[in-house]
Amino acid sequence: MKLHWQILLGILIGVLVGAVAGDLPTVIDAAGFIGDLFLKLLRMVVVPLVLTSIVSGIARLGAGQDAGRLFGATILVYIGTSFAAIVTGLVVVNIVQPGSGAEQLLQPLPEGFEPHVLTLRRLFLEMVPSNPFGAAAEGQMLPLIVFSVLFGLAVARVGAAGDAVRDLFEGGFAAMLELTEWILRLAPVGIAGLIARIVATTGFDAFRPLGWYVACVVLALVLHAVVTLPLLLRVLARRRPTAYARAVSPALLTAFSTASSSATLPLTMQRVESAAGVPNKVAGFSLPLGATINMDGTALYECVAAIFIAQVYGLDLTIAQQVLVVLTALLASIGAAGIPMAGLVMMSVILNAVGLPLEGIGLILAVDRILDMMRTTVNVWSDTVAAAVVAQWINPAVERGELT
Ligand code: ASP
Repeated sequence: MKLHWQILLGILIGVLVGAVAGDLPTVIDAAGFIGDLFLKLLRMVVVPLVLTSIVSGIARLGAGQDAGRLFGATILVYIGTSFAAIVTGLVVVNIVQPGSGAEQLLQPLPEGFEPHVLTLRRLFLEMVPSNPFGAAAEGQMLPLIVFSVLFGLAVARVGAAGDAVRDLFEGGFAAMLELTEWILRLAPVGIAGLIARIVATTGFDAFRPLGWYVACVVLALVLHAVVTLPLLLRVLARRRPTAYARAVSPALLTAFSTASSSATLPLTMQRVESAAGVPNKVAGFSLPLGATINMDGTALYECVAAIFIAQVYGLDLTIAQQVLVVLTALLASIGAAGIPMAGLVMMSVILNAVGLPLEGIGLILAVDRILDMMRTTVNVWSDTVAAAVVAQWINPAVERGELT
């Protein structure tokens, strides 16, 4: 049986076990244990995989124009797709108006909720690690990526003296991919465990009052995932969207089950390189970066949620405020870590910026988990699409022998 069918079967079994054994703590405990083990295995490989992948990729690329082009193309695609996602959300939420006349939903903010303040200045400061080992130990991806890129460039610059280091990181990277392949085989079982626990602990009742809001987020996510991104894939990357989606589907299903782009990253890299054939020199750089800063689903969700909250409070946002929502949603999605609920925490950034009450977060809390699973899937799908697009842009250079 193909891996994605195995994983789908795992999800199905998880849903059944969660629904049937909801009142049997031992069964749910065991399922959760299996799920947690799988998650830990994934997290185990993330840091060494990112480090070896980026250093070996950049060291091979050299410090010349090519690295600059790869970087520029990647950032351009990331910002472009996130922006498209936000606008999709903006249009849907303004047409459907899920929050109008829904004052009965207002609730106090949960205790101990800390608002997050994010500015461009802070984002840049946080990008640079004061200690790269500390960043690695704490799993802070953005500073780790920045250090890896700089180190890779330096290795390329020192010429023959860097050969041993380059070989070491290339070997390390190949071994990490192999290890990831082993973990991937456990995905169906691990995912069954994760899903069983989610189904058993989150009831379905929570959705009802927020139905229209959930529908808006889901509709906009679906539009972005099945119209916008496949179009880009077809036109800019000259790939068949269905075939490409099938190749990366184990990563997408894992993203759905874990609600974490970072935890999914090893599988994303493995699938994009091995199954979809995107060269490592592109995927090895763009995917780790994408898992951290390219979150189309999160950006879209931030925008819909902020406007929904404004609607519930009966506040009419001016065009200028809506533009501010769009820009801060982009910033928040870049700043959000690839972990569960990061997007929810980032909501406070937008609410602050637009002057909306922070208590609004209490409103959308109940349905965050399921929306998190969906937006994370779109986040990872967008990363894989971007990798193919950038590879296609960079490709002519490979044929001319510039990048080999
Ligand atoms: N869970 C998302 C991710 O890892 C981030 C978010 O909460 O929106 O991609």
